Amino acid sequence: MLSHAPRFDAAAAARLARDLYGLSGSVRALTSERDQNFLLETDGGERLVLKIANALEDPAMLDAQQRAMTHVGATLALAPRVLSTRAGSTLSTVAENGRQHLVWAVSHCPGIPFGLVRRRSPALLSSLGAEIGALTRGFRGFDHPAVHRDFYWDLARGRSIIAEYRPLIDDRELGAAIDTLMDRFDAQAAAVLESLPRSVIHGDLNDFNVLVEGERVSGFVDFGDMVFGYTVGDLAIAAAYAMLDADDPVAVLTHLVAGYRSRCALTDTELAAVFPLAALRLCTSACVAAHQQRERPDNAYLGVSQAAIRRTLPRLARIPFGFAKAALAPNPASARIVSWLATQSFAPIMDIPSREFLDLSVGGSTMDGVSAGIGRWDEPRLIYTAPFFAGRTIHLGLDLFAPAGTPVSAPLHGVVHAMADNAQPQDYGPVVILRHETDTGTPFFTLYGHLSRHSLGGLTVGQTIARGARIGTLGATDENGQWPPHLHLQLIVDLLDMGTDFPGVGTAAQRDVWRSLSPDPSVLAGLPPSAHEPEKPETLAARRRLVGRNLSIAYADPLKIVRGHKQYLYDDVGRQYLDAYNNVPHVGHAHPRVVAAAARQMAVLNTNTRYLSDRLTEYAERLVATLPAPLRVCYVVNSASEANELALRLARARTGRRDMIVLEAAYHGNTTSLIDLSPYKHLGPGGTGTPSWVHVAPLPDDYRGPYRRADPDCGRKYARHVAELVGPHIAGFLAETCPSVGGQIMLPPGFLPAAYAAVRSVGGVCIADEVQTGLGRMGTHFWAFEAHGVVPDIVVMGKPLGNGHPLAAVVTTREIADAFDNGMEYFSTFGGNTVSCAVGLAVLDVVRDERLQEHALHVGEHMLHGLRPFVERHPIVGDVRGSGLFLGVELVRDRATLEPATVEATAVVNKMREDGILLGTDGPYHNVIKIRPPMPFDLADADRLVETFDAILADGV
Ligand code: PMP
Repeated sequence: MLSHAPRFDAAAAARLARDLYGLSGSVRALTSERDQNFLLETDGGERLVLKIANALEDPAMLDAQQRAMTHVGATLALAPRVLSTRAGSTLSTVAENGRQHLVWAVSHCPGIPFGLVRRRSPALLSSLGAEIGALTRGFRGFDHPAVHRDFYWDLARGRSIIAEYRPLIDDRELGAAIDTLMDRFDAQAAAVLESLPRSVIHGDLNDFNVLVEGERVSGFVDFGDMVFGYTVGDLAIAAAYAMLDADDPVAVLTHLVAGYRSRCALTDTELAAVFPLAALRLCTSACVAAHQQRERPDNAYLGVSQAAIRRTLPRLARIPFGFAKAALAPNPASARIVSWLATQSFAPIMDIPSREFLDLSVGGSTMDGVSAGIGRWDEPRLIYTAPFFAGRTIHLGLDLFAPAGTPVSAPLHGVVHAMADNAQPQDYGPVVILRHETDTGTPFFTLYGHLSRHSLGGLTVGQTIARGARIGTLGATDENGQWPPHLHLQLIVDLLDMGTDFPGVGTAAQRDVWRSLSPDPSVLAGLPPSAHEPEKPETLAARRRLVGRNLSIAYADPLKIVRGHKQYLYDDVGRQYLDAYNNVPHVGHAHPRVVAAAARQMAVLNTNTRYLSDRLTEYAERLVATLPAPLRVCYVVNSASEANELALRLARARTGRRDMIVLEAAYHGNTTSLIDLSPYKHLGPGGTGTPSWVHVAPLPDDYRGPYRRADPDCGRKYARHVAELVGPHIAGFLAETCPSVGGQIMLPPGFLPAAYAAVRSVGGVCIADEVQTGLGRMGTHFWAFEAHGVVPDIVVMGKPLGNGHPLAAVVTTREIADAFDNGMEYFSTFGGNTVSCAVGLAVLDVVRDERLQEHALHVGEHMLHGLRPFVERHPIVGDVRGSGLFLGVELVRDRATLEPATVEATAVVNKMREDGILLGTDGPYHNVIKIRPPMPFDLADADRLVETFDAILADGV
């Protein structure tokens, strides 16, 4: 066939397009082995594909393709349209080298091949499923004699091709995976193939025949492999390629199938066949490739295209067909078994010393030292750290804690089905599975894990165990997988042929599937059902009901976070997120030294500043020591809003004036006065405008503002606008040193010195809001203002000071503090309390001892090095800026107009979250991606962030 491939060059193709279709424009060859395809872009901007068929191509098959595209095209916009020549025909013949080639043309489908999409989001997968469903429907009513053929790639031939070429596979892991999958295929799938509905299908929806734009499928191309085959074949083949290199192939499958079923129904048999047929397709491809490699050992391309299949098949071999089926359609036996069990009475399984439910959930405790109580069923846990758990978190059984040696008995009549000693750490240890039947003969199983090794000696497989008869005894820690002694009791509806390897912990993504395969076994142990923390939708509903609605919630799909550790957050089902957003937990979430300091002080004393306390003076001394003279007097408060309020009072007390100057788009806090001082709020939704006592200077944004970075005088030019606002009525100037809400702005050099000089020239006070930037975050300096060669009169600090404990502070000069001491008492009930000061001291200790400022500089430089090239690589990235672990990436739709890419920025943040990285947007147009992680964020985290961000931008947003 290959020797009969056409060999036209682009000029010849251009001539054909002109002569046959009357079209001219630029012509480019597309890759194709057997045929030739040329992309023609006409002078009018129309794009079409000129197709020159192999000389051996069956004209009937071309006719079938054209008729199919037209038939499908009547209901589906995604199929290419067949174009007619000037003479009105759809197929022409041309000669080359004495051979006849058929020539035709179709419209060009936009988009990039699915195979080049690096991030396959749930939205894209369900779009793919839905469009395949529409394609299946589109094919309805279509038939053609040519597609009733004995075709090599027909799934119905897959099994025999694999049998023929399997011996050619040398890779042992790949061969073993194919053998496992085909053994299962023969045992579980082969018999139902005959009953699968058949119809004409596309036949080759591999990842290069599916085109994608953003998160939507934009085209299906190459109908040359059409065959009258299994109707579900298109879905199965697309699933095969969509699962390549997927971390969770079953999740891919569920998204695809859910999408498909939104457009087209599937029978039960079809549902059961999707995964086996997908596996069959990849096995066929691997075997055919081994054959071709043998024939053409020099063709390196063959090996490369197989790499993903080689990586994926072993992964698929670990997924029982029954599990994939259960993930697509709930097992109908489950509900039947559960209702039957509810009508039965059971013999006691064991002596349970305490029936109190424990909390071993993600936000609860570990199992260390637990000796009594009940561990809950369907509980997400973080304790399963051994590699074989591979991120699974949902506990599928019930844990009954009791001393080692406690006898364990069968709650109901059964037969020993399987037993083993799963000895590796964190596994079941000695485990027994009993088989039972309901009164109507539905089989089910009970599993008893963490027994003593001795227990297994007394049992044989097939042995009948009477209700109440002894199974064994509880194992000690050294024999039960290293756990504190307890029984893991699990009910299993379908063992999926896994025997004693049936998991006791499932994936959160398939929690419902696991619930139906392993329902709550409490009834067997005479216990009430496991009670749970509310799941996310319930918490969300309660929040909507009980909490003010304008307390906004991040992300389109909100997160329920229940644990933090270093730079990581964990949601309620145990998914780990890399926190690149929160600068409040400065030294890391739940830092043990901070936790210990708070707990220690809380247990001894927590009171206010009316009594002398060394914690308060020590903290004031340590904080003041981080600042230059004359900033020597400290007030400790609870929030940055309280701190900014106090700063305003200090400035007014010092000057006897009222008016203030602030920067455009600034945010300084949530109190009434601070909303007045925050244009971001009072000029935004719900705001009532700038009050007369507030004067707003332009934001010195040297990327977007009136004066740009290239102008060496830009800082001073912005400062001139501040100078224009000063006068004898001005009490002070309040500005963040790096406006964060303003869009992670780095103030241009020269701005602050000139602005401060102007304000001071009329006796005004200069206030630096360092709430976002302090404690070494900028890397180069401990406080951001230090980089600008200025010393403010008042410094306001907040967020990071207490690592999440409400702690903020104001530091000023003795002169200003004395002016404020005008007879009116100053008091803040919680400000400077003993616990807050102990926490603040611990945070300062950690910043010093863990050298976090240097760390921020090092990691920040590394991350900037990775992010800066985005400006060249991705047209949407307008600017990358920042210092240390305070960075911003500004997205624009147009490099010239700087039109903000607001929707795109939100999309990036949501996609990053899908990939497990938390970020936010900021800036007046919400188009700046804000990166300000907890300070332990390290080089590997930076690489992960950069790579993920890059992949998202490369796929298009
Ligand atoms: N100043 C700045 C610069 C801030 O970013 C914030 C909070 N985002 C505040 C003040 C107010 O802090 P708080 O919410 O602790 O009152």
